[in-house]
Amino acid sequence: MTETSTQQLDALIVGAGFAGLYQLKTLRDDLGLRARLVEAGEGVGGTWYWNRYPGARCDVESLSYSYSFSPELEQEWEWTEKYPTQPEILRYAEHVADRFDLRRDISFGVRVASAVYDEGRRRWTVTAESGAVYDARFLIMATGCLSVSKAPEVPGAERFGGPIHHTGHWPYEGVDLTGQRVGVIGTGSSGIQSIPIFAEQASELTVFQRTPNFSMPAGNRPLGTQEITDMKENYREWRAAQRTSGFGVPVPAPTMSALEDTEQGRAARYQTGWDQGNLTAVLNAYTDTLTDKAANETAAEFVRDKIRSIVDDPATAEAMCPTSFAFGTKRPCLDSGYYATFNRPHVSLVDLRSTPLQEITERGIRTSDGEYEVDTIIFATGFDAMTGALNRIDIRGRDGRTLADEWAHGPRSYLGLAVSGFPNLFTVTGPSSPSVLSNMMVSIEQHVEWITGCIRDLTERGRTEIEASDEAQDAWAAHVEEVGNATLYPTADSWYMGSNVPGKPRVFMAYIGGVGPYAEKITDVARRGYEGFAMT
Ligand code: FAD
Ligand code: NAP
Repeated sequence: MTETSTQQLDALIVGAGFAGLYQLKTLRDDLGLRARLVEAGEGVGGTWYWNRYPGARCDVESLSYSYSFSPELEQEWEWTEKYPTQPEILRYAEHVADRFDLRRDISFGVRVASAVYDEGRRRWTVTAESGAVYDARFLIMATGCLSVSKAPEVPGAERFGGPIHHTGHWPYEGVDLTGQRVGVIGTGSSGIQSIPIFAEQASELTVFQRTPNFSMPAGNRPLGTQEITDMKENYREWRAAQRTSGFGVPVPAPTMSALEDTEQGRAARYQTGWDQGNLTAVLNAYTDTLTDKAANETAAEFVRDKIRSIVDDPATAEAMCPTSFAFGTKRPCLDSGYYATFNRPHVSLVDLRSTPLQEITERGIRTSDGEYEVDTIIFATGFDAMTGALNRIDIRGRDGRTLADEWAHGPRSYLGLAVSGFPNLFTVTGPSSPSVLSNMMVSIEQHVEWITGCIRDLTERGRTEIEASDEAQDAWAAHVEEVGNATLYPTADSWYMGSNVPGKPRVFMAYIGGVGPYAEKITDVARRGYEGFAMT
């Protein structure tokens, strides 16, 4: 097949992360479709292919952050740590690609530039930057929620004399920071995971923090043989529970308001959560942490007290205490020694709230307080999340309408799976689905299986086109907004709200109704003959 000839396909999938790999497998092997997967990178793994920064690891436990679709795969794969490292997760993705013989239908180094729907033929014409053209009945965007990295909005990067790296596309061959003066901008999950390791190597490490984050100790450790055996014996029950849970990880539901408990009761409960070393334990201690400001404040103050007790210098500790948003409304972090890193003599914090970032110079980073000379700069400044990858492709649906225009005031979709005006286009973990508010592996499998079932049902009924209706999409958008507004999430300037990208519309882009209730909803939609969709 030459790059210039048009490939005729039943389905084209874009993105070879966990979503795209599983989607290829189901469409090709279960439905027998002519399916192809194209990927901008040179390998599989998506997030875990690109984010190779030191310290990168999952913060959902390995036994839960893994595919459930193949009991054989579950039994043969051995996770080694509670929270797996990026190299281990990447090896897992590569193993999956090999084990299910997926690579023969994947084209690497292919970045999709445009996708145009031909209403007459009811097919998508997809063109890559290389000029390769694909003609497909169905187009499945598995392009990722966090796959377009973003640099800080500060002038001067081009004149800096040394290297600048972004955690979101870390050099394949690694970076040796030994003996260097290093400046890191950004203290989200990526910064918080990598800063303790940069501190091991650098001779001087300066961390530029705009907004401090809530972080808790990961308590990472090697997995014991017995717990692996136990999980392997009980995987089916666990997987079923994952799919009906709130966040894709089964945890006991809280029963009490934080405000009904005594001060000692709260302290004990939060301490138990803190010691468990997971994302949800403190957050999930009470019923109202994410809905009531006063209840939330009790958890926030517990974490702030921890920060004050770990960071020796009181001024640094106070600067690292988050106060501008409610606990949990920006994604909390899990760390391995993050706060204690600031007790090391060669590590310092620059608080950009009191001394704003001004420019990158030839020699380093300038704030309103002066110039900090460094040898290497690291951007840990996050992503144009949820819509970034989709809006970068010129997607044209009915009447030549572009997706970017349709979403100019914020993304709207039906169930996070389809968009009115864009027939036969599906988004895996698209905006308005639980996606980033869940263990993504569970949400990915849920969507891939729904999309596969939908294409199968459509084909069996002899239909060639499916499209979400405006009315169904509006009703879903109203529901997503209503559920979101019942929580504290919309009060934060977070990437969930699009606030981290200047000019991006302020919309809560995920669905907080829970993975289990959402699964029921989409299953119901299918059972009712794809209610809210038109099939032609
Ligand atoms: P991705 O893995 O992002 O894959 C999308 C792929 O699409 C990419 O490889 C990209 O190159 C490709 N692509 C995009 N646009 C184009 C185009 N135009 N043409 C061709 N290819 C394109 N989730 C959790 O649940 N738990 C965690 O602990 C967790 N940790 C994370 C840590 C980091 C550092 C990051 C960035 C994210 C993390 N996530 C986590 C979210 C993570 O993105 C998902 O868990 C999951 O890996 C997403 O898989 P995906 O296949 O949907 O998307
Ligand atoms: P992020 O959470 O968006 O953090 C970006 C950081 O950069 C923030 O501290 C932000 O400050 C700062 N920043 C951005 N632009 C800036 C500017 N112009 N000037 C100064 N500071 C600036 O990004 P991330 O850390 O890469 O994480 C993104 C998401 O990926 C996470 O929330 C999580 O979902 C996932 N992730 C998970 C893990 C994990 O533990 N498994 C690890 C990494 C990533 P402001 O807050 O002020 O904007």
